[in-house]
Amino acid sequence: MSGTGEAIELQPQLPPARLFIGGEWVEPEGNRSFPTENPATEEVICEVASASAADVDRPVEAARCAQDGDWGEISARDRGKLIWRLADALEERIEDFAVVETMDNGKPIFESLYVDMPSVVDCLRYYAGWADKITGETLPLSGPMVLNYTLREPVGVVGAITPWNFPLLLASWKIGPALACGNTVVHKPASLTALSALKLAALATEVGIPAGVLNVVPGGGAEVGGTMVSHPRINKIAFTGSTVVGVGIAKQAADTVKRLSLELGGKSPNIVFADSDLDAAAKGAFNGIFYGKGEVCAAGSRLFVERSAHDEILEKLVARTERLQPGDPLHPKTRLGALVSKGQRESVLSYVEKGCGEGAEVAIGGTAAEVDGKGYFMQPTVLTGVDNSMAVAQEEIFGPVLVTIPFDEPEEAVTLANASIYGLAAGVWSRDIGKAHRVAAQIEAGTVWINQYNWYDAGAPFGGYKQSGYGRELGRQALDLYTETKTVFVGK
Ligand code: NAD
Repeated sequence: MSGTGEAIELQPQLPPARLFIGGEWVEPEGNRSFPTENPATEEVICEVASASAADVDRPVEAARCAQDGDWGEISARDRGKLIWRLADALEERIEDFAVVETMDNGKPIFESLYVDMPSVVDCLRYYAGWADKITGETLPLSGPMVLNYTLREPVGVVGAITPWNFPLLLASWKIGPALACGNTVVHKPASLTALSALKLAALATEVGIPAGVLNVVPGGGAEVGGTMVSHPRINKIAFTGSTVVGVGIAKQAADTVKRLSLELGGKSPNIVFADSDLDAAAKGAFNGIFYGKGEVCAAGSRLFVERSAHDEILEKLVARTERLQPGDPLHPKTRLGALVSKGQRESVLSYVEKGCGEGAEVAIGGTAAEVDGKGYFMQPTVLTGVDNSMAVAQEEIFGPVLVTIPFDEPEEAVTLANASIYGLAAGVWSRDIGKAHRVAAQIEAGTVWINQYNWYDAGAPFGGYKQSGYGRELGRQALDLYTETKTVFVGK
């Protein structure tokens, strides 16, 4: 795809309206389905099978069987090879997957093709490499008459529940390490964007990953996800989604003392000091909020700017934002796609209205938009005159809406940044690297970017402080989420 070409017209391969269980397409109970919509055109892409609570036993048993059979028996090195093969196969079909993701979610093809899908491939390869390097320890104990060692064993059947904003990418953050550690997976993708997950599971079987290792059951959150959370034969839930749902899952998972990792919401501060490279900071603030339509858990949605630089940063930001027009997500030049659904756009617009009602001013944007008379688009929006206590500064809007707030001293910036229930990510911009490091250390967040924003890597752990969740995905740290440690004492 060239950066200047026409809209992509590839007809993607769509999965059948079936669940993917035990290596094959199967009908859900009652043959239920729901339509999945392209939010840019408001057209139905296809029907997606809808699992019910009664459908959850089947994938769990398939996963259990694979765990006790083929998957549990192959060597760790062969497991790694199979995950690597899946990454290769996905890379060969990358345009097909990217088009499906863009149609289902509304994100620009530029992002699906050059960021999301390559990152999925990279994540799978990163964990394929780990598969035969997950080791225990031998431990020196207090007495001479005992040998002690530890084993790292798979947790068992993992229930993965994922959101709609980076559908396949966030699934790969779970599937990659779960499979590398020898687990099997039952995946419930978000209903709005289930297509790529179904395609990946079918591809896994095609490349030789044993039947039952990766099962996909789209369906209602409370009905299918909730049944998974309380299912006695699922050993662990790996959840990414909103804090409110995550809290409910944590309570429900407690009944079976299920292993649980939670990647939840955010309201990330991006702090710009007057001594930073202001052009770079304005560009970083712009990308920090408008990349992915702002439907990004770590979006830099609160911009704190040192007062003496506030107006200059705002001017640069508005100038950039004026050039960002919503467009056909399948066009290679588009950088702002459609919000994922009508309901999501209504929710984002209602925040803008509420903010203005509380005294915020619209510096740019603030309204819905259409492309060719259709779609759930929205103008990229910057609000000023915002107090950190307002809803637009405290609640996750999950759309292309930035609030700017001036500050005077570094300590004040840290206090304002930390005055949030969330702690997912943060940005710090300064040429004084000592100050930047000090501020980074004081920020309550799982990730801090200095003089950049939105950088992710399969090798670097990612996760939240406070109500942004617990556990770290990616990196070596994610292996801890998918293994149990067994201690073995041997008498000498
Ligand atoms: P959501 O919480 O509504 O849904 C997430 C998933 O949970 C979906 O698959 C949904 O069907 C399922 N679900 C809903 N109710 C459930 C229940 N009672 N039991 C079990 N599963 C249930 O979130 P969303 O709207 O799909 O995604 C947006 C949210 O995800 C935002 O809050 C965003 O910050 C968060 N998110 C966090 C990260 C991170 O890494 N921290 C990454 C992306 C998105």
